[in-house]
Amino acid sequence: MSAANNEEFLPFSRPTISQAAIDEVVACLKSGWITTGPRVKQFEDDLKAYCSAPHALALSSATAGLHLVLAALKLKPGDEVITTPMTFAATLNTIVLTGGTPVLVDVEPGTYNMDVTRIEKAITKRTRAIMPVHFAGLPVDLDPIYELAKKHNLRVIEDAAHAIGTEYKGKRIGSFGDIQVFSFHPNKNMTTGEGGCVVTRDDTMAESVALLRFHGMDREAWNRFGKKGNQHYEIIEPGYKYNMMDIQAALGLHQLKQLDGFIRRRTELALRYHKLLSDWPQWTLTKSPAYSHLHAWHLYTPLINPEAAGMDRDAFMQGMKERNIGTGLHYRAVHLYPYYREQFGFKRGDFPHAETISDRIVSLPLFPTMTDADQDRVIRAMADLFGRKGL
Ligand SMILES: *Cc1c(COP(=O)(O)O)cnc(C)c1O
Repeated sequence: MSAANNEEFLPFSRPTISQAAIDEVVACLKSGWITTGPRVKQFEDDLKAYCSAPHALALSSATAGLHLVLAALKLKPGDEVITTPMTFAATLNTIVLTGGTPVLVDVEPGTYNMDVTRIEKAITKRTRAIMPVHFAGLPVDLDPIYELAKKHNLRVIEDAAHAIGTEYKGKRIGSFGDIQVFSFHPNKNMTTGEGGCVVTRDDTMAESVALLRFHGMDREAWNRFGKKGNQHYEIIEPGYKYNMMDIQAALGLHQLKQLDGFIRRRTELALRYHKLLSDWPQWTLTKSPAYSHLHAWHLYTPLINPEAAGMDRDAFMQGMKERNIGTGLHYRAVHLYPYYREQFGFKRGDFPHAETISDRIVSLPLFPTMTDADQDRVIRAMADLFGRKGL
C-alpha cells in the first residue's frame, strides 16, 4: 500500500478556532460570569444582524431549538408534521417527543432535498407544519413551500442546521419566512462547542421559545442576579433547560465574524472536488437546482457507484480509514431505523430516492483549514483504493 499510513490522520471535519475566540473564552472565564449573560446577549444581537431578523434565541443545541419550537405549537395526538427522511434523526425525534406524527415525502435524487412537488399530496386535516431541511447547506426550494403553508394555514420550521450563511434567491436563510433553527455543533459551518439558535419573525413564537428554554421562568437568572434584577421569578408553564452559556457565546461571537470566509473556502474545495471527480465512474456527484442560491457547503456528499467502484459505501469508508483519511455518513434514511419502522410502519421501498442515497452517500473531508494538498491526498487514496491508473 501507499505511504499514506505514515501521514497524519485527516479527519472529515475539523473546527477552525481563532486566537481571538480563545482569548474571548478565557476573558469570559475570568469575568466571573460564565453562563447565560452579556456574551449571549451580544451573540444574539450579532445573529439578528447577520440574519436581518427581529428575534434570535441562542440555545444549547439545534435539537433543543427544534424541540422548543415544536413544543410551542402544542401539537395534539395525531397532529402531523411533514418532513424528509434524508436528515439527522433529531428532526424526526423532536416531532415525536412533542406528540406529533412525522409524515415523510421523498427527496430529489440530485440535491437530496425534499421534493416539494410531493408535499401537497401529503397534507391532511391533521397537518400542522412543514419541516424542510436545507441539506448540506443547499437551500430547499422555499417559495412553493411557503405558498402551500399559506394556502393550508401551516407553520414552516426550517431545519437550517446546515444552513447558516446559505442564500435562497438572493436572500439569506433566516432573513425571511417563518422559523429557522441553526446548529453550532463542531461539525457544522460555525461552532460554539455545542449550541444552536432559533430565528423567527413571529413575536409570539419568540416569546414561547424564550420562556421554554429556561424552566418557563418569566425572567432569566442573569436578570435576577444582575444589578437591575429582581430576585423573584414566576413559572408561567413548565419549561426546559436549553439556555446557551456565555462560554459558548464567546466562541460564537468570533465564529460568526469568520463564517463568510469559512464558506468561501468550503466552496473552493467543493468545486475542486467536483472538477477532480467529474469523470470518475465510481461517483455520482450532487447537482445544483435551477434557482439562484448560495450553497454553504456544510458537507460534500457524493454517492458511490458500487459496481464501478468494486465496493460498497461501508467498504469505501473502511478503506479510506486504513489510508488514514476520515469520512462521514450523513445520513442513513431515518425511516429505516427500528423505532420508526416499528412505531410508524415505515419500510424499505417507501422512499426510493432517500434509500438509494442512504445506501451510497459518504461525506468526504471538507473544512476551512483543509489545504489543496490535503484534498489531493484524498483523491490519491481513492485512486489507490479503486485501483485507478494514471491519476
Ligand atoms: C446537526 C443537526 C441537527 C442537530 O443539531 P445539534 O446542534 O447537534 O442539536 C438537526 N438537524 C440536522 C439536519 C442536523 O444536521
